[in-house]
Amino acid sequence: MLVGLRQAFLRFHGCTMNCYYCDTRSSYSSTAPEFCQVEKLPGRQDFCSVRNPLSFKYILDLLNEWQQALPKAHHSISLTGGEPLLHVESLQRLLPDLRSILPVYLETNGVLFHELTQCIDFIDYISMDFKLPSTTKSREYWKEHLKFLEIANRSNVYVKTVVSSETTVCEIKKACDVIASVNKNVPLILQPVTTTSPGEAISSLLLLELQEAASELVNEVRIIPQTHKYLNLL
Ligand code: SF4
Repeated sequence: MLVGLRQAFLRFHGCTMNCYYCDTRSSYSSTAPEFCQVEKLPGRQDFCSVRNPLSFKYILDLLNEWQQALPKAHHSISLTGGEPLLHVESLQRLLPDLRSILPVYLETNGVLFHELTQCIDFIDYISMDFKLPSTTKSREYWKEHLKFLEIANRSNVYVKTVVSSETTVCEIKKACDVIASVNKNVPLILQPVTTTSPGEAISSLLLLELQEAASELVNEVRIIPQTHKYLNLL
């Protein structure tokens, strides 16, 4: 929903899922890497290695430095991963100070609803993934997604679902039934899977058919690909 706006990224280690299309696999291996990569000036790719885990002070000082160097560049700070809600105790301590610098935007796989409850008051935007078995190649999460969305609906939430050549109209309708049961006005973004395999890439016709079916059940359905991939950005 915020496509085109710049964000600072804070990437967390670990994830509860193992989606086959995941492009951050190194961030959710069983043990955290000894070092993480920190950009000294945003967007310049002038990374340095810093030992994990970063202290809260280091994160806040760095973000303040970025804000001084580029005061208007960033719309918000994106908490991403992996799955940030795995670190809810750290989020509860960090977010009040983080939020005093930039609005907080959470990227999440949309399953850890207990953890969301514990920190939602410090989150301004939620990008909630809706995981379809056809694209993740794993089990379904309808019940977890429903509970998560019921809580996320208290904030500024939209739902994003990755679709591939194997996604069916029936599956999208089931996902939209879950969304509509909470709030028909929650926007839904259909994101074509980014792939180099022609067999996995979704056809434009199927994409439009999915949008047509979804639009019968929820009020706003957008098709947005991973634009940073086209631009060769992080
Ligand atoms: S939920 Fe996100 S971070 Fe976790 S495996 Fe899936 S795509 Fe990767």
